[in-house]
Amino acid sequence: MKKYFEATYDKLPLAGVIEEAGNAQGYETGSWGTFRPVFHEEICIHCMFCWVYCPDTAIQVEDGKVVGIDYVHCKGCEICSVECPTKPEKAITMEKK
Ligand code: SF4
Ligand code: SF4
Repeated sequence: MKKYFEATYDKLPLAGVIEEAGNAQGYETGSWGTFRPVFHEEICIHCMFCWVYCPDTAIQVEDGKVVGIDYVHCKGCEICSVECPTKPEKAITMEKK
């Protein structure tokens, strides 16, 4: 899979056309952020809000339950933590990298 973020401007396709659909896996967006989410399994109620709202499909799920975070693709946007409904403590908190 071609990594567009490694291409120089003269190697990009005309008008930045995406020639290969489904290429998000090739973007290692995990290096972009200054914060990262920390998953607290003991608090999670598996409502899946974080999975629905994550723009990078970085919430890892097995058998319908959240099991962790894909830090290679999570860019630390904090949406999962904001949307997590558990109180008084959230099942996903943010920490500085
Ligand atoms: S939003 Fe919070 S409680 Fe819901 S599945 Fe994600 S981590 Fe668990
Ligand atoms: S911080 Fe953003 S990118 Fe990372 S898991 Fe949460 S919603 Fe997804």
